[in-house]
Amino acid sequence: MIKVENLRKVYKVGTEKVVALDNVSLEIEKGEFCCIVGTSGSGKSTLLNQLAGLEKPTKGRVVIDGQNISKMTEKQLAVFRQNTIGFIFQSYNLMPTLTSIENVAFPLMFKGVEKSVREKKAKAILKEMNMESRMHHKPTELSGGQQQRVGIARAFVGHPKVIFADEPTGNLDSKTTEQVMEMLLDISEKNNITFVMVTHDPQLAKKAKRVVTLVDGHIISDTKYDKEKVENN
Ligand code: ADP
Ligand code: MG
Repeated sequence: MIKVENLRKVYKVGTEKVVALDNVSLEIEKGEFCCIVGTSGSGKSTLLNQLAGLEKPTKGRVVIDGQNISKMTEKQLAVFRQNTIGFIFQSYNLMPTLTSIENVAFPLMFKGVEKSVREKKAKAILKEMNMESRMHHKPTELSGGQQQRVGIARAFVGHPKVIFADEPTGNLDSKTTEQVMEMLLDISEKNNITFVMVTHDPQLAKKAKRVVTLVDGHIISDTKYDKEKVENN
């Protein structure tokens, strides 16, 4: 589903050059849940931004669902993102004036889905996420965990093939973090959605089937956990 080849990203700050990613290659299968871990500044967000086509790599390429996104124009990328990709943010990025339903329904507007259908879909997903009693609340009237559930529902509403999440539990307490993580794993598994999640928390990452570790812009390990084996031991 995702193929990364010899990715390099150099940021220029004044006369200084920062090599944020160097020679990163990676393949992620359809339906796989992959966590990217590493300390602050190791290049996690940079990698996610290149994968999602939010930034152009300095070298190398990213192929998603058979399409070389590194070669796309901004316009092509925008359409590609709308149809193929969902995002979940650390700080939720909900629109403050919109209710939960309106926030979740919003991305469907760009896909030309009719209003009544948009609301119906948004409602169904929120209900599935136990947010039935918070459908008409605005973000400020919700807890962090509830806001993130709205954020997840919004990422998922268009049934993307890939969901990218940058520290989605970064602002949540440990109990809510567990709940949100379980929710993400569940959505990925039930719908065969490929997930790439960035976290600085190695313990949390271990709940995923695959953990890629970055140090100074390099992949230093790529581990696949066999869940059944762990459970049988
Ligand atoms: P992480 O998400 O793992 O904390 P980042 O990917 O944000 O790390 O950053 C990796 C490195 O690239 C850091 O040294 C950071 O300072 C640098 N960097 C990230 N974004 C930019 C930018 N837009 N301009 C210049 N340097 C950047
Ligand atoms: Mg980051």
